[in-house]
Amino acid sequence: MNTQKLPELQKKYGELDAGDLLQVMIGDVFKNKIALISSFGADAALLLAIVSEIDNKTPVLFLETGKHFPETLQYVEALKNKLGLQNLNFLTPDPELLNRIDEKGDLWNSNPDRCCWMRKVEPLDRAVKELGIEALITGRKRYQNSERAKLETIELDDKNIFRINPLANWDKARQKQEAAKRDLPAHPLVAQGYLSIGCAPCTSIVKAGEDERAGRWRHTAKEDQQKTECGLHISGLEIRVSGFGEKE
Ligand code: SF4
Repeated sequence: MNTQKLPELQKKYGELDAGDLLQVMIGDVFKNKIALISSFGADAALLLAIVSEIDNKTPVLFLETGKHFPETLQYVEALKNKLGLQNLNFLTPDPELLNRIDEKGDLWNSNPDRCCWMRKVEPLDRAVKELGIEALITGRKRYQNSERAKLETIELDDKNIFRINPLANWDKARQKQEAAKRDLPAHPLVAQGYLSIGCAPCTSIVKAGEDERAGRWRHTAKEDQQKTECGLHISGLEIRVSGFGEKE
């Protein structure tokens, strides 16, 4: 059903600019069945602002992995207050799974795919079901890395949930311009050279000439198994973390 709906939606709305696309997705096509997933990272503020201008009661999903920088948690509160976010949801790992799989809290080092599945993918899947979500808004952009270069503004993921990527074809200049217009505060770590910000153990400073996301999971490069996505935006992570694809 959704696979048939996808080309229709892409044809009708796929070329709309971010604000217009979000207006129709939030206000009409997925009314009361859409949420924004936000990392509250380096450039999260702009999309949060655009969504809140349309409807500040739109559910915002933040994955509280328990591994964030303190600055990120402060930034969540600062943006919530500045933008008047009325429906901010903190998604946390299942405590039973956490105790069983990552008792010492160092799974990020030995098996980051499994850690991301437990701390991000499973909580998101659970929330999507509980809230009856049919579409998730993301802040992904084509220029961020080669894997995102062909990103569409409307997609369907492997779990049959629509993904709305309103900033997919925006460039850095447009982003800066729109953020400046709204006087949005920067994440406090950007000034220190963190250009893409996730969990603290898996985030490092980006050097000149590197991709914006090059500082993520840098520790996995040493085993020649560079991880580039957390599992929220790729398919098959459940398979890669064999034995943990279903909540047991
Ligand atoms: Fe774990 Fe790192 Fe993934 Fe966070 S980004 S969930 S700490 S592996």
